Amino acid sequence: MSFDVVIVGAGPGGAAAAVALAQLGITNVALLDREGFPRDKTCGSGLSPNALKIIQQLGIAAKVKELGYPINAVRIVTPGGRELRISSDAAAVVLLRRHFDHLLVERATSLGVTLMTPFRADALIEEGGRVRGVRSFDGKEVHGKYVLFADGAHSVFSLDKRPKRSISTLMGWWENFESAPNTLDMIFDKEVSPLYGWMFPETNERVNIGICVDGQDESGEKSTRNLRATFEGFLDRHYGKRLGAATQLGKWKGHPIVYTTWIGEMTRPGGLYLGEAARLTHNATGEGISQAMESGVFAAEAVASVLEGGVGESRAWSAYVQRHRRRFTGAFLAGHALRAVIASPMLDGVADVYNQPMVRKLVVKLLGSALAGSAVNDRPT
Ligand SMILES: Cc1cc2nc3c(=O)[nH]c(=O)nc-3n(C[C@H](O)[C@H](O)[C@H](O)COP(=O)(O)OP(=O)(O)OC[C@H]3O[C@@H](n4cnc5c(N)ncnc54)[C@H](O)[C@@H]3O)c2cc1C
Repeated sequence: MSFDVVIVGAGPGGAAAAVALAQLGITNVALLDREGFPRDKTCGSGLSPNALKIIQQLGIAAKVKELGYPINAVRIVTPGGRELRISSDAAAVVLLRRHFDHLLVERATSLGVTLMTPFRADALIEEGGRVRGVRSFDGKEVHGKYVLFADGAHSVFSLDKRPKRSISTLMGWWENFESAPNTLDMIFDKEVSPLYGWMFPETNERVNIGICVDGQDESGEKSTRNLRATFEGFLDRHYGKRLGAATQLGKWKGHPIVYTTWIGEMTRPGGLYLGEAARLTHNATGEGISQAMESGVFAAEAVASVLEGGVGESRAWSAYVQRHRRRFTGAFLAGHALRAVIASPMLDGVADVYNQPMVRKLVVKLLGSALAGSAVNDRPT
């Protein structure tokens, strides 16, 4: 089978690329995934204000609003145990990935994209130094003029040879958990510093709770920390009483979040990398859905510019990389600054003076935008 574009991976990055291609008039597109949809994905399922903007552009905002749980406040607990509550009218939404990813995939197929599942891409088809398609582990072949790699954190096709830096996570789901309406928690507990633990409400009764910690120790080696023991301690300290009255749903799950500060290799002749396959997640918040979708839109626009014949591939590919660097590097650098703030006594100091209106305004602006994954110095493209 032969297509204009083959997309490997139908998570938010790959599916957004498929929708954006179709919106640009390119529908001879194969969207492949090793799993059938709807499928689960280990994730907090938080859609930031940035993510909601892209969702609007992709044409599924009304359905996300209908199915999602709206968030308009963040309760922050500092390493010293003080509390801040940041309210915002730029509401976020929590929508279980099983439903969110399915919505995006359905949107792509409704616009004429061909979904092929289960298709586990295992090898590249190359011709004359160009990628021309992929082969599945059971020998099926799909050919394309262009291939987009959106196969997530464990990308088997990544060209980025740098050691992976990652955030380790562990999370669970609970029902009948009592929490303040429309409020998510970010708990900057000392044991997980400079990262955090979270509680994201998915409905009025069901929540997900998790922790993220650095996947590397100070020397850069893979961390040997006992994540399960760290999570048990975290749950005990912050939610012990309330969890006693709640019911756990299923087992705890963990998955790495792969990040980079300096965007690396993300093109090859005939192909582009996007989303977490290109390590585009925020190193301090772990946010990756909005970056993946935005990256998918950038990939669609780059491929469309070449297919329409106006721009040569090498020019389009280098513009693609530059566009990502302009869009995300500021936010990724701000992530490291945020980590430094969290590891210092600064957050506790801020909490002490938070009731002063000037301070409150500043915190909402700075911390609010950092938590939403966009830096103050991030320039629009
Ligand atoms: C515990 C946890 C909590 C998180 N919470 C949040 C959050 O609240 N908000 C947020 O914005 N981000 C969050 N993230 C990050 C977010 O989940 C990812 O960054 C995001 O899903 C990346 O999107 P993607 O499309 O690039 O990759 P993915 O969502 O990983 O999608 C990749 C797709 O490729 C498919 N695939 C993989 N290999 C192959 C193959 N060989 N052949 C065919 N298909 C393949 C997979 O089945 C999958 O469907 C969290 C991550 C974790 C681990």
